[in-house]
This record gives sequence, structure tokens and C-alpha cells, in this order.
Amino acid sequence: KASVMDGDKFDNDEMADSIEKSKAKSAAEALQEERKKLPIYTYRDELLQAVHDHQVLVIVGETGSGKTTQIPQYLHEAGYTKHGMIACTQPRRVAAMSVAARVAHELGVKLGHEVGYSIRFEDCTSDKTILKYMTDGMLLREFLGEPDLASYSVVMVDEAHERTLSTDILFALVKDISRFRPDLKLLISSATLDAEKFSDYFDSAPIFKIPGRRYPVEIHFTKAPEADYLDAAIVTALQIHVTQPPGDILIFLTGQEEIETAEEILKHRTRGLGTKIAELIICPIYANLPTELQAKIFEPTPEGARKVVLATNIAETSLTIDGIKYVIDPGFVKMKSYNPKTGMESLLVSPISKASAMQRAGRSGRTGPGKCFRLYTAYNFQNDLDDNTVPEIQRTNLTNVVLTLKSLGIHDLLHFEFMDPPPAEALLKALELLFALSALNKLGELTKVGRRMAEFPLDPMLSKMIVVSEKYKCSEDIISIAAMLSIGNSIFYRPKDKQVHADNARLNFHTGNVGDHMALLKVYNSWKETNYSTQWCYENYIQVRSMKRARDIRDQLAGLLERVEIELTTNPNDLDAIKKSITSGFFPHSSKLQKNGSYRTLKHGQTVHIHPSSGLAQVLPKWVVYHELVLTTKEYMRQITELKAEWLLEIAPHYYQLKDVEDTGSKKMPRGEGRARITDN
Ligand code: ADP
Ligand code: MG
Repeated sequence: KASVMDGDKFDNDEMADSIEKSKAKSAAEALQEERKKLPIYTYRDELLQAVHDHQVLVIVGETGSGKTTQIPQYLHEAGYTKHGMIACTQPRRVAAMSVAARVAHELGVKLGHEVGYSIRFEDCTSDKTILKYMTDGMLLREFLGEPDLASYSVVMVDEAHERTLSTDILFALVKDISRFRPDLKLLISSATLDAEKFSDYFDSAPIFKIPGRRYPVEIHFTKAPEADYLDAAIVTALQIHVTQPPGDILIFLTGQEEIETAEEILKHRTRGLGTKIAELIICPIYANLPTELQAKIFEPTPEGARKVVLATNIAETSLTIDGIKYVIDPGFVKMKSYNPKTGMESLLVSPISKASAMQRAGRSGRTGPGKCFRLYTAYNFQNDLDDNTVPEIQRTNLTNVVLTLKSLGIHDLLHFEFMDPPPAEALLKALELLFALSALNKLGELTKVGRRMAEFPLDPMLSKMIVVSEKYKCSEDIISIAAMLSIGNSIFYRPKDKQVHADNARLNFHTGNVGDHMALLKVYNSWKETNYSTQWCYENYIQVRSMKRARDIRDQLAGLLERVEIELTTNPNDLDAIKKSITSGFFPHSSKLQKNGSYRTLKHGQTVHIHPSSGLAQVLPKWVVYHELVLTTKEYMRQITELKAEWLLEIAPHYYQLKDVEDTGSKKMPRGEGRARITDN
């Protein structure tokens, strides 16, 4: 009997197995069918011919036509991966990850094997990798190790229309290597029609147009300006949900916080709708969304339900979500702006451009007629929006890029072949700062310090802080601090119903008013002592995920220290050593307490305040150095450490003079006395 049963079981298993297999096979077939339905498929052979015939090709095609996911696969199928990898750059981390995952899935391979991605601090590739999706910033860094990009047979600079700083620099670098690497194929792909500009820049490279399928989109403006666009967006979404035929909704918001708020409000309000109304599935997507949740936006909406995607600008052109029929466009985007006079950079919520507004509207008409609800007036659109977004290179701090270019041996930056040159003032500011950080000498040449700094994929001030920690014998601590700073402000967790507990837990790390950098170090070290315990994180209102990421980044920084031959050292009793390292990187960010409790930046005399989340917010030390400025209701300094004024003269004598760090009223004092007085502080 037993044997019969076994036999039965065996047969069943085999049958189940073969059913599974045929299911998998038909799923794979379905996937291949889907690929063939993309607009780009019709042009596959023509496109391959054009790539064959020309070294540089500009490709224009509407978003969602299949450029990013299909072109690298076509090139692979045509044999281009026999002599090297295919790189495809993306301006955004999430896009690089998500698209790589999709392509790996289409090819039926494990992500990280034949298809991988590379983003800062996360390399998901292997020896097998032939299709490599990466951020534009990562490809830029690859030039440092491999100036001719010899491991690549094709470079596709994708989403070129985004004109990020790294993409703009890549244009010049890839153009340059294409001259002495005739075997390298260069594709510049863009979603918008100003391709002429790219073509002109690349010596009249031919333009390959992929006609998209586009359905009519009905555009609605508000009659009067909206006072609260977030609320207006939510109300509009709910109205669509209860009154409009099936089809998913896409709302463009400006950042994580706003998206989380919207999610909460939507959840709350849909609860009150009752059972007669269809389910509303809320899908957020933004840069820091955990990977496992990112895939959710692509899951097909179940019958009878409706999906609402709450996205940052990432959904404007980088990611295409199928099934969107309604777009809600409040008309804003978070954008970097830079003041070259003061060197201050800030992220500001700013109005979008007309070009952006058109792109956003277009997202609703991909698979059928769509509707776009603009939460601004037709008058606003016509009169207040710029035609195009200003390229990032003209509104950002260039220090990092200048350091990279200098390490690549590019000295004459004023004659560098920029597609749109940055303001000369911004270039000079960058050179000045790099000189102040001792990364460049008086002739503008890279120093040994600068060479070491360039190894770190970090802001030059952070890199300097790390490199100088060799001198102060605290590299071990400094890389922990650098890793924690790189996480941003998502370390502490503050649930609405336990704010007091959370705040108390946070203050525990500030005992002795050691400053925010030290507190971050203490968090890291305490977690390490518990052997990276998750429980400990819960108890202390700390986000495990962020800590794990910090540990990861720290490991990589330790590896880079080894590369620049700096030993790991620590002296837990010498807090001043750590503070001096921080000051050595961040001395341009020093400020001094004013009588009214505000601060003045030493170099530019700007009024700033200590961020309320700082452990020093109640302490108000006389002299502080800050990590960054954030503009909310006021200009706030975030992540602050107290410093001694005399350190500024010791560490940056070429940057600060006695008068900068003197107490007011002591101007007439003879030099010697002045110095003595400062030491007293
Ligand atoms: P383009 O680069 O021209 O904008 P893509 O190649 O990104 O177009 O998109 C082609 C198709 O692939 C779209 O229908 C999109 O929805 C789909 N797609 C892209 N990424 C994913 C993903 N991670 N999951 C599911 N579908 C995806
Ligand atoms: Mg794309």
C-alpha cells in the first residue's frame, strides 16, 4: 500500500511540477509578448541598424515607449555585449534599481548577475554583469578608475533631458573618449523634443525618433489659485475616485514628508467612505522608499479597485506606471538652488516649468484617453511658469564636480566643453573652497590631500574631514560620523503617539551636551556594542533600516581609507581630536552666537539658527560648526558641534583672520592680547 501511495505522490508531484513549469513558461512568454507591444519594438531593426552605422546617436521617444528597458536588451541580442558591458545611466537611484529589476525579470535572470545596477554605496553587479544600470554620478566616478571606460562597449546616457549636473559633465567626458575609442557606441536618449541641442553638441549626431502612442488628454485648470495644494490634491483624488470611471490616479508631490502626510490623510478619509465605494490602494514612491515597497507601484490594480500613486518627480519621466488615467499636478517640485555669492545651497519647493507640466499631463494618456487636473490657473500656467527647467549645472554648488574633473586631469575648466556653462562665479567659488580645504594648491593643481579626497564619493567637506582624521588619529570615529551624516535625518524615529518617549530617548545620546556629531557617534557605537541589535533600536526609537545602511556605508568608507592608506585609529578620550577633524572639513560652516540667540555665519555674516532638533538647541554655544543649512521657516543649521575659536586660526589660517574670530569690541586690542583672549573662550 505504502508503495502505491508513494507512487501516486510521485506522479502527482511530477504532474504538479510540469504544470508549474508550463505556467512559468507561459508567464515568460507573456512577458516576451508584452515586450513586443511596446512602441519601440516596431523600430528595433531600424534602431540597431542606426547604431551600427553611427558612433553617436541621439534617441528621442516618449516616456514609456521602452527606451530604458528595451534598448540595452536589443543591443545585447545584437551581440554588443561580446566586447564589453552596456552602461545605461539614470539621474535617479530608484529608477536605476527599478529598471534593472524589470530588465532582469524580462531576461529571466537574477538581479545582480547578468543585469545589475550601481548606485552610490550600493553595487549590485558581479563578474557576470553585461547590462549595467547606474546613476549618472556613478558612471562619472568610474572615469576616475578607468578614464577610457574600456570595460564598456556601449554607453547610453539616458534621461538626457533631465540635464542633471552629472549628466551634463558626462556629455563632455563621453564625447571626449568617443574620439579615441571608435569602437565605443554612444547613445543619448531623451524624452523631450529638444533633441537638436544634443545633436548639435555631439557634432550633428543623427536623431532617431521613436513615435509614441499618445491619446488625448483633457486638461483642467483650477479657477482660482489653491491656498493649500496638498489638501486640494487629496480632495481632487477622492472626487475622481467617487465620480470617475475606472483608471488609476497619479499625484505629483514634492518629497517624502509630503507623500507620507498625503498617505495618512487619504487613509483616514477613505475609511469614512463606506463599503459602496471601491477600494483605493495607496502607493507611495520616492527616493528613500525601501526597495521591497518600490515594486508595489508596478503591481497591477485588482479588478474593482483603484490605485493612487503618490510620487515625486520620479514619475514624470524616469518611471512609467501602467494604467494611469488621471494625473493631479499641483505644479511644484523640490529643486536645488544655489547662491554663488554666499556658497549656500538650498532645496526649495519651486514652481515647475511648462515643459514639466506637459510631461506630467502626458502620463495620463499612455494607454487610453486621460485627464489631467492642474491645481493652478490657466493664467498661472501661461504667465508664471518658465518654458524649461534651468539645467542643474547653473543652479548648484560645483565643488564636488570640480574636484572630480581636476582628478581626471582636466585643468582648464573655463574652456571645458559644457553644453551650458555654469556661472563663472560658481566655478570660482568651487575653486576657492577646494583651495581653502587644501585640495588644490595656489596654481589650482590637485594636492595629495585633494587626490585622497577625490577617492571618497562624498561632498568634499566630508572627504576632507575623513582625510584629516589621520592627523588627529580618530579615523575610526570620523568614518562612523560620516556614515551617519550620509543617512540624512532618518535615524531617529518619532511616532506621533510617543513623541515624548522618543525625544527622551534621543536626548540620552546628548548627555554632556557633546553636540550632534558626537551624539550620532554615540548612537552608532552603542548599537555596535549590542552587536547590532534590532531590539536595541526599537527601545531607543532608532530606525534599524537607517542604521544598517549606515553600517554598510561605514564599511565602504573603511575600505576607501585602506585604499588611500590611512590607518583605522581611535582615542575615545580625545573628543577634541574628533571635533578638530570635523572643523577641518567644515570650517567654512562656522558661526557665532549673537546677543539675541541667533547666529551669524563667520564668512558671510548671514543670520542663521540652531535647528530645534539639535541637542545644542537649548545650550547655545558661542562658536559652532554646522553640517548643513536647511531653509524651512528660517535658515536653520542642522548637525552642530561646538568649537573653540582658536581652532579656526590653527586649522584654517588662510581662510579666517584674527578679526573674524575676535569678540566684538576687542578690535583695538593688540594682536598678542587678542589671541590670548580668544584662547580663553
Ligand atoms: P522609457 O524609457 O521609454 O520611458 P521604459 O523602458 O522605462 O520606457 O518602460 C517600458 C515599459 O516597461 C513601461 O510599460 C513600464 O511600465 C514597464 N516597466 C518599467 N519598469 C518596470 C518595473 N520595474 N516593473 C514593471 N514594469 C516596468
Ligand atoms: Mg526611460
